[in-house]
This record gives sequence, structure tokens and C-alpha cells, in this order.
Amino acid sequence: NEIYEEMDPLLIRIDEQQRLLKQQNRELAQAENLRRDFSSNVSHEMKTPLQVISGYAELMKNDMVQPADRQKFAALIYEEAQAMRSLINDVLTLSRLDESAFGDDAVLIDLHAVAERVAGRLGSFAADQQVQVRVEGSAARIAGSETLSEEMLYNLIENGIRYNHEGGSVVMRVEAEPPARPGGGLPGEDAVGQVVVRVSDTGPGIPEELREKVFERFFRVDKSRSKETGGTGLGLAIVKHAVLYHHGSIEVESAEGAGTTFVLRFPAA
Ligand code: ADP
Repeated sequence: NEIYEEMDPLLIRIDEQQRLLKQQNRELAQAENLRRDFSSNVSHEMKTPLQVISGYAELMKNDMVQPADRQKFAALIYEEAQAMRSLINDVLTLSRLDESAFGDDAVLIDLHAVAERVAGRLGSFAADQQVQVRVEGSAARIAGSETLSEEMLYNLIENGIRYNHEGGSVVMRVEAEPPARPGGGLPGEDAVGQVVVRVSDTGPGIPEELREKVFERFFRVDKSRSKETGGTGLGLAIVKHAVLYHHGSIEVESAEGAGTTFVLRFPAA
């Protein structure tokens, strides 16, 4: 009997360990499935532009394109090559994020200045789409990666321009909000204040049931619009990762037909 009594806790421990192992195996299998899905999605997304490029290039190589059409064909090839380049860049950014390879040496970043820079970089895309871009607010500092925070705001403003209409606008507002209770409240309470970024557009909005899905890799509400304007389907997945990397949160506010606002919050530095 004594032996049994000693063995009981041991058996319980073994049981518990087996349960943990099984769970770990399940999680590993899930991660492996996600990885496989992602690779097959990437290959699929690469194939389409590559087919167009090789098709048109072959026609040109065999001298089957009228001289008057050559420039048009070259432009199509160029566009598809750009789409491949964007896709490869986004895939690389995501894999660096998965490996947390953006370095731990956080620097001070003024998100308002980053927003101004991004708006400048997207100036000609905005002009092409006939959308106005404005940056409002004032200096607001967080700690993190300069490259990654620029990529994050770039993707949001780019989407605001892409999913919009002629004559529409995108406003990015960056503000530092003081701590909830100045002078410090209870431990763990918001004692440092936060930086809030709001990106609003005048586009079609996002249906309520899809507001979480848009952050998934390769999920698109409107496939043709995304492709037509150079979307990779990875932009918001990168944004979400980048927000978490900076210990922040992201929410979508949207009224169908009346535009979308992405609200990001970070601990202020
Ligand atoms: P994409 O490269 O297709 O833009 P994203 O990951 O950036 O990929 O966005 C995923 C999908 O979410 C888009 O295809 C689009 O359908 C939707 N979406 C993103 N931003 C907006 C927005 N500002 N307004 C409306 N729909 C949006």
C-alpha cells in the first residue's frame, strides 16, 4: 500500500507531462500547417506576375509585337515585376518579424515626423489616385524600430489611398496623450501616457464581420482592387506585427460606405 501511495503523485506527474507533450505536438503541427499554407500562398502569388512577364517577354522576343505596342508591353512587364518586388519585400519583412530580427536596441522615434516622411514618400501615388493626404497633430515619441514604424505607417496610409475614391482624403493624426492620472496612480496603471495614431480615409469601409480578418496574411476584401493598385495582401499583417512589436494595440473603426479609421495606441517614451 505504501508503495502505491508513493507512486500516485508520480503517476499524476507523468499524466500531466503526457498531456503537455500532446498539446505541444498539436501546436507544432498547427504552426507547421500555417507555414506550409503561407509558402504555398506565396508561390501562388508569385506565379501570376511571373506568367504575365514571361508571356509578354516571349512575344517581344519572337518579334510578335507591333512596334506601336512595344512600349505598352514593356510597361505591363514592368508593372508585374514591381508587384513581385513588393511581394518579396513584404515576405522578407514578415520573416524578419517572425524571427524578431529588428534588433532590441530601441531608439526614440517621433511618430509625427515619421508620418510626415511617409506622406511625402506616398505623394505621387496619392496624386495619381487623386486622393489628398494630410498629417495632423504634433511630436509624439515612442521607443522602437525606426524602419519598422515607418513601414507600419506607410502601409496604413498607402491602404487609405488605395481603398478610396477620386477626390477622397486620408488624414493621419498623431497625438501624445498624458497619463490617465498625472503624478502616477496605482502600480501598473497608465503612468507614462500614450501615443495615439488615427488613420482615417473616405473609402468604402470594411464590413464588420471582416474587421479582424483583414490582418490575416493574404486576406483581401476586394481581390481585384487590391491587385489593380499593387496590393500584396500582406500589408496589414505586417502592420499588426509591427504594432505588437512596439507593445501597442490596433483597432478598426468603420462604417460601411463611410470610410475606415485605424486607431493605434503605444506606450509613450
Ligand atoms: P492589400 O495589399 O491587399 O492592401 P492588406 O493586408 O494591406 O493587403 O489589406 C487587406 C485587405 O483589407 C485589403 O485587400 C482590403 O480589402 C482591406 N483594406 C485594407 N485597408 C483598407 C481600407 N483603408 N479601407 C477599406 N479596405 C481596406
